[in-house]
Amino acid sequence: MSFGDALRAQDETRRATGIGPTDDERAKTLAEATARELRTTYGTDDVSELAAAVGVTVRHSEWDGVDGLYLFGTYADSVITLYDSQLPHLAERLGITASLAADLVLAHELGHHALDGHEEATPGRPTLRQRLLSWVAGSGHRAFEERAAHWFALELVGDKLPKDARAVLR
Ligand SMILES: [Zn+2]
Repeated sequence: MSFGDALRAQDETRRATGIGPTDDERAKTLAEATARELRTTYGTDDVSELAAAVGVTVRHSEWDGVDGLYLFGTYADSVITLYDSQLPHLAERLGITASLAADLVLAHELGHHALDGHEEATPGRPTLRQRLLSWVAGSGHRAFEERAAHWFALELVGDKLPKDARAVLR
C-alpha cells in the first residue's frame, strides 16, 4: 500500500466511522491548543525535547513492516516506538529528510500522549480533554483521536515542512 493509498484508506475509515468536518474541526482546535500550550510550557518546539519533558520514552525499532503496510510509529503507556526502517518511505513520499519524517511521526505519537490528558488527570475528575473525547465517543472515538494527533503534529512540525508535503498531509 502506498502512502497515498494509506491516506485514502484513512479517509474511507473517517467516513465509515462518522467523523465529519465538524468533528475534524473540533479535533483540530483541541490539538492545536494542546500543542501550543506544551510549546509555551516547555519553551521549545523541539519534538524530542518535548517528549523528554513530559516523561515519554522514545524507542527505536528496526522492524520492517508487514508486506508493504507502512507503520511509522506507535504510542502506548508513555512509550513511543519509531520504526526507523519505515521512515525513509514516509520521507520519500513527502519529499522531506528522514530526520524530519521522524520528527513528524514523533510529534503525531506525542499528540496521542498529550491528548490523553495525562498531566492533569485526577481520579474521578475527568479533564476537559477527556470530556471532549468522550463527548464524541462511540465508533468515531478512535478516528477522532487520530485526527487530533494528526493536527497536533502539524501544529508542532508543520512550519518545517515544504508546502507540497503540507498539502499532502491536510
Ligand atoms: Zn495515531
